Amino acid sequence: MTLHRRQLFLPLVLLFLLGSALWWRPARQPAERSRILMGTVVEIEVLDPETAQTRSAIDAAFAEMARIEALMTPHRPDSDVSRLSSSAPFTTPAPETQTVIAAGAEIARQSAGAFDLGLGRLIQLWGFVDGTPQRPTDADIAAALVGVGPGDVVVSNGQVKKSRPDLQLDLGAIAKGYAVDRAVDVLQKAGIRHATVNAGGDIRLLGDHDGRPWRIGIQHPRQPQAVSATLLLSDVAVVTSGDYERAFDIDGIRYHHLLDPRSGLPARRCQAVTVVAKTAMQADALATAAFVLGPVDGLALLERLPDVEGLIVAADGKTLLTSGLAERVQWP
Ligand code: ADP
Ligand code: MG
Repeated sequence: MTLHRRQLFLPLVLLFLLGSALWWRPARQPAERSRILMGTVVEIEVLDPETAQTRSAIDAAFAEMARIEALMTPHRPDSDVSRLSSSAPFTTPAPETQTVIAAGAEIARQSAGAFDLGLGRLIQLWGFVDGTPQRPTDADIAAALVGVGPGDVVVSNGQVKKSRPDLQLDLGAIAKGYAVDRAVDVLQKAGIRHATVNAGGDIRLLGDHDGRPWRIGIQHPRQPQAVSATLLLSDVAVVTSGDYERAFDIDGIRYHHLLDPRSGLPARRCQAVTVVAKTAMQADALATAAFVLGPVDGLALLERLPDVEGLIVAADGKTLLTSGLAERVQWP
């Protein structure tokens, strides 16, 4: 069979159009994926050119976060946290859980007990984890605080020790940050150089954004659609804790999930705290610690620690910054 020139023309034109369409595809199309993990939306954005390898690295990063969640969630009876919270003797959780508890115990020490790993019973009582949030009675709060205080949970010689057998652990203020760090580690080991992992406000930045810093908008604590500041950052973690994230009102009083271990009540001195640090684990725990300490002691803590910066919105709406952040902030 012979083909006439006219019969060849159309397929050639189509081939040309298809070829140029492929050619003109933008080279840098960030790969973005999200999944629900640890009770929040986790987003991974990779700027490196999308290949089969980047796609499988993102899947592996999500899988790693799910593995960490399974160890540290209070929702599964077989998690390390549930087993450590039961009165039955169990002292040797996975190395990852030990790492997180040791880091949390250090921040408990640095914050003079404003951060506490032994608040499981209190958090359960307030119903923030599951069930309907409610204002507990003072007697119930006092009972939930028995055994809580500096040094109530420590790791020594690879063993987790509690102040009392019935003390219950909660890693809600630190485990999400650790999971973000693990995800970044997986991406980095797969050769990815520019990415962000965001677990509902627990963010870690890998590399920079096309030779410039990433621009991270910090949500305004009282205007959900507005930002209170924009931070220009690369290769760090940035984590925000706010009283607007999980809260309820009774008779005009706002109750939220950041609790002062000394009173058992929501901490009242801040609206939001953002911490910049090398790891999301440290930033996550310090954001909660500084929130509970309040603007004066909280800012002093963030200022005192090396490689740590922060932005605090106090209860009266005033914003305070650590000295190292001034050159990296843009106001709206
Ligand atoms: P989220 O990002 O989910 O808002 P945060 O990092 O702000 O979490 O931490 C809040 C969680 O930490 C609470 O839901 C509770 O599980 C736990 N928590 C609350 N108060 C404290 C505290 N003073 N010390 C340690 N953990 C706390
Ligand atoms: Mg936190």
